[in-house]
Order: sequence, then structure tokens, then C-alpha cells
Amino acid sequence: MILNQVSYSFDVSCCAVYAGLSRGMTLFTVDSGMMEDVGALLGYLRESALTMWVSTPSFAEICIQSTLFSADLMPNLKQFLFCGEVLSHKLCDQLSARFPHARVLNTYGPTEATVLVTAVALTEAMRKDTRPIPIGYPLDGMRLDIADAGGGAVKQDGVCGELLIIGDSVGPGYKGRPDLSEARFFIDTETGRRGYRTGDVGYRIKDLYYYQGRVDSQLKLNGYRIELEDIENNLMKLDNISRAAVVPVWADERVQYLAAFLTLERQDGLKALARTMRFKELAAAVLPAYMIPRKMIVVDSFPLNTNGKIDKKSLAARLRGDVTP
Ligand code: AMP
Repeated sequence: MILNQVSYSFDVSCCAVYAGLSRGMTLFTVDSGMMEDVGALLGYLRESALTMWVSTPSFAEICIQSTLFSADLMPNLKQFLFCGEVLSHKLCDQLSARFPHARVLNTYGPTEATVLVTAVALTEAMRKDTRPIPIGYPLDGMRLDIADAGGGAVKQDGVCGELLIIGDSVGPGYKGRPDLSEARFFIDTETGRRGYRTGDVGYRIKDLYYYQGRVDSQLKLNGYRIELEDIENNLMKLDNISRAAVVPVWADERVQYLAAFLTLERQDGLKALARTMRFKELAAAVLPAYMIPRKMIVVDSFPLNTNGKIDKKSLAARLRGDVTP
């Protein structure tokens, strides 16, 4: 029995559907309704007799909040496979305590390169290491290169650069977007195979790869791939918002939620809570629910950095309470 938690529109679902079904496993799916009630969800999991778990780390983090989520609940569970976002040390430690006999696999891959391109079964040494949890070794037929800021190859271990994926599963490009395809996809001159510039920053130690963030402002929130500029541009379409700056709030190596700092075109006389509710209502017309910032904070003006851009570091510091808004 194999769990699929992610939406079928998310390529990670292919792991459970194809790899699971082709090995004769039965698919156990969790729908969004089941996720609204963790108590009921744990009941389904108890009934499921799962042997393999495929999900984003975020989903396991929801489950692990309940002390019932342990090997007693799912005694047949042998493996967790995670993909799609950063797997934190905290979650790995919790899983190892609650499921001492289950293997934890971390895997990595963007949709453009078709599901997974690296994987690793975590060892205790990796869990105890001060480095991030590794994203894995390249899978058969795949190569990962690391490029420095000038596009040159990074050869030394431990030095960060942009991860480039070369191999059979890289797609031909974006449909109807030759401009974007040209910028991100390439043909590897050495092998003639397709390559993709991921925008992910990483490094390798021997042949094991580590993820270190993004070159742009794309991030993952609860497994969803999000561009902050996309949210900002959509918020600025709403009545009375003149400028928006969206800031991720991090804890335990992952984004917990988003906060939007906003300047208004005119005073609206609303209290903060009423205004947030109004903006959230309006935002629902232009953004999917997972992209609507949890906090909406109105400011008179934005702090600017030395380049004259909105200083998002200082906005993030306000949220942490380092500076009063
Ligand atoms: P998607 O196309 O939705 O699968 O998102 C792909 C992006 O998710 C990658 O480019 C990474 O930024 C991120 N990602 C996927 N797997 C991992 C992982 N194991 N650790 C950290 N980030 C990941």
C-alpha cells in the first residue's frame, strides 16, 4: 500500500502512481477534505496498512504534530519518500524517533526535468551533520552540474552555484514561451543531451548534492511552488493597493507563511483586521488560496536598501520583532 498525498497536477504524484502501481502496490490517496481534520486523517492512515509514504515534508509536519503519528499507527510502514521542498533536520529526527525502523528517502527534482533527478536514503550521519539534509545522488541517466555566476563550471566540493540538470528526462521547453525556454533550457555541447538551468543553488560533496536556496525569489510553501513577484503583481491589481512587497517567514528551515507589506493609494479608515479580511477577500479573485499572504501589513512607505530597492531584509526583521513596524 503506497500513499499519495500530493495533487495529481503535481509531478511528485507520479512516484506513487507509476512507481507504486507498476510494482503491484495499492494506491492510498489523501484528498484535501481529509486534510482538514487531522484526527480523522490519522484514522484513515491507521486503516490504510501503508508500507510506503510519498508526500511533501509539509504534509508529514502536519501529521507529526499529533503524538499518535508513529509506528504504532502504521506498523507496516517501511519507507518515507519526500520530494518538492526542503526536508528539515527537525522532521528527520522526529521521524527517526517515531518510526525507528522506517527508511527516509530525500529526493529532488523540478517539473521541467520530470519528477525526480536525485535521491538518497538518509543515514544517521546525515541526520547528525550540521549541513542541510542532502537532496541526493543523481539518478541513472542524469547528470548535475554546478555553474558559477559567470556560467563557468564549479568543480570543487562544497562550493555553491546554480544547479544544472542534464539528462534524458529534461523536457524540451515551455509550451508557447520560446523566450523562457531559450533562457532556461539548453543542449549540452558534450553529450548533445537536453539541459535545464534550475535556478536552485546547491553544492556537492563527492557525488552527493545539497540544496542551498534559490537564485531568484521562487520558494516553496506547503509544497506549492510560488514566485513572490507573482503575488506582488496580483496584489497590486487590487483596489487601493499601490505597492506590495511579500516576505516569507522562515522557521525550522522552511517557509511557515507569507506576509505582505502594502502601501495604500488613499486612507480607508479600516482597522487592521478588517482591512486584512477585505484584502484577502479581494485577493481570492486573483490568486489561489495557497498564494494569499497570511498577514497583510500596511506601511506608510517602504525601507530601501543601498541599491534603492525595497529592503525585504528589513521588512522581515520587523516581522521577527527586531524592529517595530
Ligand atoms: P516543482 O517543479 O513544483 O516540483 O518544484 C521544483 C522545485 O522545488 C525545485 O527547483 C526546488 O527549488 C524545490 N525542491 C524540490 N525538491 C526539493 C528538495 N528535496 N529540497 C529542496 N528543494 C526542493
